[in-house]
Amino acid sequence: MAQRTAQAGPCPCASGQPYGACCGRYHRGEASPPTAEALLRARFSAFALGDAPFLRRTWHRSTRPTTLELDRGQHWTRLEILGRTGGALFDTEGTVDFRAHYRVNSLDGVQSENSAFVRDGGEWRYRGRAPRGPVAR
Ligand SMILES: [Zn+2]
Repeated sequence: MAQRTAQAGPCPCASGQPYGACCGRYHRGEASPPTAEALLRARFSAFALGDAPFLRRTWHRSTRPTTLELDRGQHWTRLEILGRTGGALFDTEGTVDFRAHYRVNSLDGVQSENSAFVRDGGEWRYRGRAPRGPVAR
C-alpha cells in the first residue's frame, strides 16, 4: 500500500520541491523523468512511499524482478547523490552514484550503489548496479 503523502508536502528525494511538483508527477505517470538522476530520485521516493508498481515500471525489462516486495519496516530517510556520468537529456546511458539512508527498528543504515540507467524507447530505465569507476561528475 502506498503511503499517502500530501502533494504539497516536501518530496522524499529532498529536492526542496513539493512532492506533487517533483517525483509525484512521475509516480502519477503524468511525466517521465528527463534524466537518469531524475529517475533515480523518483525511484528513491517510490521506495520511501512504498510505490512498488512505479519501481517495477521503471526497471529495465532485462533485469526487472518478477515480483517486488518492499520491506514495510524499512523507512527510507535521505538520499545523497555522490556523482554521475551521462544520463542527460541527449544521452542513452548513464550512471548515478548515491547513498540512500534508511532506518529499520530504530537502527540507521545506508545503501550505497552506483546505478546504471539506459534509455529504452525514449524513457529512462534502471538497469542495475554498475561497477564503480573513477569518480566522475
Ligand atoms: Zn522528488
